[in-house]
Amino acid sequence: MMKLEGRVALVTGAGSRKGIGQSIAMLLAQEGAAVAVNDVNREWAQQAVEEIRKSGGEALALPADVSREDQVKNMINAVVEKWRGLDILVNNAGITQAISVLEMSEEDWNRILDVNLKGTFLCTREALPYMIRKGWGRIVCISSVSGKKGGGRIGGVHYAASKAGILGFTKALVREISPKGITANAICPGTIDTGKDPGRRMWNGRPALEGLEEARNTIPIGRVGTPEDVARAVLFLVSEDADFINGEVMDVNGGAYID
Ligand code: NAP
Repeated sequence: MMKLEGRVALVTGAGSRKGIGQSIAMLLAQEGAAVAVNDVNREWAQQAVEEIRKSGGEALALPADVSREDQVKNMINAVVEKWRGLDILVNNAGITQAISVLEMSEEDWNRILDVNLKGTFLCTREALPYMIRKGWGRIVCISSVSGKKGGGRIGGVHYAASKAGILGFTKALVREISPKGITANAICPGTIDTGKDPGRRMWNGRPALEGLEEARNTIPIGRVGTPEDVARAVLFLVSEDADFINGEVMDVNGGAYID
């Protein structure tokens, strides 16, 4: 029996191959949800949809920049037009930059905060009315160990601030939306191997393999995480198994950081 039969989900930043978002989208679809695959990159969003369809899932590509209000509104409208509602939102889209605070420009700061934090706000605000209408909804925000411990291995103060902001956002959200049948939780992944080329995205400015090797030595479980590790945590939080879990910040880090 599938856990999300009849549900409609939107996963942001889900186009990246081997990325956390794509893995979440695949798993939610495998569990029976119709999945809207957002990414700023149109081609990647479409490729992810094709992967999901190949495995028998139902999916729709929705290219949009989550930091742009007009694009977010159009995206949510497209989901609702296609499936007549939206039950599950996974705020996963995120970017980082390895840079010192001394070198950080206002533009650098704004770019990271806009995508990571404002994008989470905009998608949540636009999705909520449909969850409220149904009296049921699940929101999961992807933060990071960086947001808890003040920076991680890669990424500047802007990244850590955006991810800490997501935790405050999620907790404050719970107070407002829970009486309407909606829960919100956050996940803090540790080091996750998304197979990226050296110097690309989450490993910006650092060779990915060297980064992973170093990381492995600091993780009690003895390996870095996989996108599927994070996806399974998301599935749990959006399924009925987690009906009474609300405002939780779940670590998925192999014990690398325990608070
Ligand atoms: P990823 O592979 O780079 O995937 C993120 C996706 O989001 C990319 O396809 C990216 O497109 C897209 N995106 C960027 N800006 C966007 C925007 N404005 N609107 C819509 N989509 C946008 O990264 P990941 O490692 O899977 O990370 C996913 C999430 O997990 C992020 O929030 C990240 O902060 C968090 N996280 C990751 C790790 C880790 O070790 N990987 C650890 C802790 C937390 P482009 O590639 O074109 O920019």
